[in-house]
Amino acid sequence: QAEVSARRRSLGLTVSGFDAPRPIATFTQAGFDAPLLTAIVRAGYKEPTAIQAQALPAILSGRDVLGIAKTGSGKTAAFVLPAMVHIMDQQELEKGEGPIAIIVGPTHELAEQIHRETHRFAKGYKLRVCAAFGGLPKHQQFRELKAGAEIAVCTPGRLIDLVRMKACNLQRVTYVVLDEADRMFDMGFEPQIRSILGQIRPDRQLLLFSATMPMKVERLANDALSGPVRIRVGEAGM
Ligand code: ADP
Ligand code: MG
Repeated sequence: QAEVSARRRSLGLTVSGFDAPRPIATFTQAGFDAPLLTAIVRAGYKEPTAIQAQALPAILSGRDVLGIAKTGSGKTAAFVLPAMVHIMDQQELEKGEGPIAIIVGPTHELAEQIHRETHRFAKGYKLRVCAAFGGLPKHQQFRELKAGAEIAVCTPGRLIDLVRMKACNLQRVTYVVLDEADRMFDMGFEPQIRSILGQIRPDRQLLLFSATMPMKVERLANDALSGPVRIRVGEAGM
């Protein structure tokens, strides 16, 4: 236990939550399979960043996670890599239609970056990633979702539109990421976020990432996360 505390301190991690797992030192320790490890090497990632070291084992154990770390700290891979594991496991269990994982970000530029990172790790598993955000034609996204994309990377408004158009049903979603929660709230997306969460089964795994921790994000974390592991890196969000 003292060793875990020392390691967290050296990574600049502040962690709370019942029985939070110990941080990992290598991607191999996350228990990823060979295709995913290969893709990680190909991406040029040698070792997990601080947020990844703590968030990966927490997410892989099925916990809800609140992750606060500044821009550039590698938050995307922290939620994208476990998404692959989750989907491969879940796919066997639940047939049916609609995405298994949704990742929501504030703007189409940010969603685009997340989409690129997701596609990079999903292609080895032949998982289909739908880009459900502005800038691309809705009818194309409609088709991709209907054809059975397992992952949707979206902005809040576009996701709600697609759900309304019945392109996408959220019944099979069990892995939800809200990325850049602070910016989404600044942009006034709180009602959309709450509406989306209200349409997803309550036993989903929910991951909330943010660079800062304003009151509104704190309130969402308290309302929506269940038994989370809370992780903060450095002075982020202070
Ligand atoms: P954030 O979302 O926290 O702002 P990103 O996920 O966009 O950060 O990552 C920032 C940059 O670091 C990206 O270029 C990403 O490819 C790279 N990166 C992520 N994880 C690692 C890692 N473990 N090792 C090296 N580079 C990484
Ligand atoms: Mg990011």
